[in-house]
Amino acid sequence: MDKDRVVADGEAWASIVEALRGTVSRQQFETWFRTMRPVSIEPGRYVFSVPNAFLKGWIDSYYTELLRNCVASAFGAGADGIDGRPSEIRIEVDGVGADAVPAGAASVAPLPPVYAAGGAPPEPRREPAPSGQRKRPGRVPQRIDDIRSQLFGHSKYRHFLSDVILNEDYVFDNFVRGPSNQLAHAAALAVADAPAQAYNPLFLHGLVGLGKTHLLQAICQRVLQRRPETRIIYLSCETFVNQFISAVETGDLEDFRYRYRHADMLLIDDIHFLAKKERTQEEFFHTFNTLYNSKKQIVLSCDSPPREIPTLEDRLVSRFKWGLVTEIEEPDHETRVSIVRRKAEGKGVQLPEGVGELIADNIATNVRELEGAVLRVVGYAALTKQPLTLDLAREALRATIQPKERKVSIETILRTVADHFGVKASEITGKRRHKSISNPRQICMYLARRLTDYSLVEIGGQFGGRDHTTVIYANEKIARELEKNSRLKEDLDAILRRIRAGE
Ligand code: ADP
Ligand code: MG
Repeated sequence: MDKDRVVADGEAWASIVEALRGTVSRQQFETWFRTMRPVSIEPGRYVFSVPNAFLKGWIDSYYTELLRNCVASAFGAGADGIDGRPSEIRIEVDGVGADAVPAGAASVAPLPPVYAAGGAPPEPRREPAPSGQRKRPGRVPQRIDDIRSQLFGHSKYRHFLSDVILNEDYVFDNFVRGPSNQLAHAAALAVADAPAQAYNPLFLHGLVGLGKTHLLQAICQRVLQRRPETRIIYLSCETFVNQFISAVETGDLEDFRYRYRHADMLLIDDIHFLAKKERTQEEFFHTFNTLYNSKKQIVLSCDSPPREIPTLEDRLVSRFKWGLVTEIEEPDHETRVSIVRRKAEGKGVQLPEGVGELIADNIATNVRELEGAVLRVVGYAALTKQPLTLDLAREALRATIQPKERKVSIETILRTVADHFGVKASEITGKRRHKSISNPRQICMYLARRLTDYSLVEIGGQFGGRDHTTVIYANEKIARELEKNSRLKEDLDAILRRIRAGE
């Protein structure tokens, strides 16, 4: 090739395209290369552009060598530079540097954003497109849109492929350890530091909101920090299933398989989504085997242990148990307090004495809810421009905190209801049947059913020695009336607020 031929030389570009078409399948060409354009073509250095960072990442990760070969076959000996070193292949993103975003570009995340409320990244919607309806606007190949993956434009994340935007808060440093999650945390750390050596696969399970996604993302971020060249695929199981369905529909399984089976690390969140999806299970089984046999790390999260995933094939259940299966349990009180403090510190707030305990006392299960409570308290103080005190925290949480319902006594219900309606407690527990008394009495029974563990017979006994059918009747009547009687609803809300406030 003439060493002076440069930039968008139509002929040189046509030769490269021809070589590409001769090398990859038509489907691959359409998917990955159809939108590629030459930026500058000179011996030893070939710069191409693509419309978005997703394509760039993909081509960088999987097709650089192939492009180099195509260049070599297009230009023969003239392809390389004067010093004989292999040609440099560079992929740029159209319009980067300018403000322009290419029309129809696949979603591209510039940098991991920080999410405020709840700390959870929004999940992209991922319904499988009904067949025959997959036309989408723009010049990006539709399949990419189907993939709905996102690639970080930042060079640190060059080899990162995911359908979820990493939350920069979800790192090991921010994960509070306690007896409930210690093992899961240690295992995740080990996997990040010694992929495919410590535990393979790592199977984390636990109920919703206990930190599975946090740990999966922490693994991704640690690996990317230490070995940015690692090809990580991290996605929700739902996306895996949808991609598989879409690959089957478009006859594009080869590409799908190539992609998954060439990852260095595969992390799939919420693998229980494989339940009842036999064909995807079959495909996943082979992906699993390929990666496992080539000593690539696999990490899976699930809302139950492997054997409890409905209809999961036995061979997958047994494979999931090959490595380490570990559960994240509900955090104990002390861990909850630490989590609450940590989340507040994350918002730049030092919680005064007692507030952490107040929140941890009232929210016993889910860490996501703990976080929500912290945000409410901090937000309430900011909004009302008051200093954050224990009283203020109580007030902020009042409407939302569920009382420990067992602790509500018949006594409290009785007193609150009587007070609200301006009648005497002794009247309610007495025999009078006048509406002004029987209505509050029925409300007491209704509340006792909901807020205490007493049986129907016990409740009947407490409110005037009535039998259990009276209690059932009262319950149904109030429930029915609540549907249409907004006054009654207001009464009940007011009573509940007072009961919950512990008045
Ligand atoms: P899961 O995926 O198990 O449903 P997530 O990982 O989404 O749960 O966690 C829910 C929220 O709780 C996240 O914001 C996460 O950061 C937080 N979280 C859970 N466990 C911990 C922990 N041990 N330390 C700090 N934050 C935690
Ligand atoms: Mg999750």
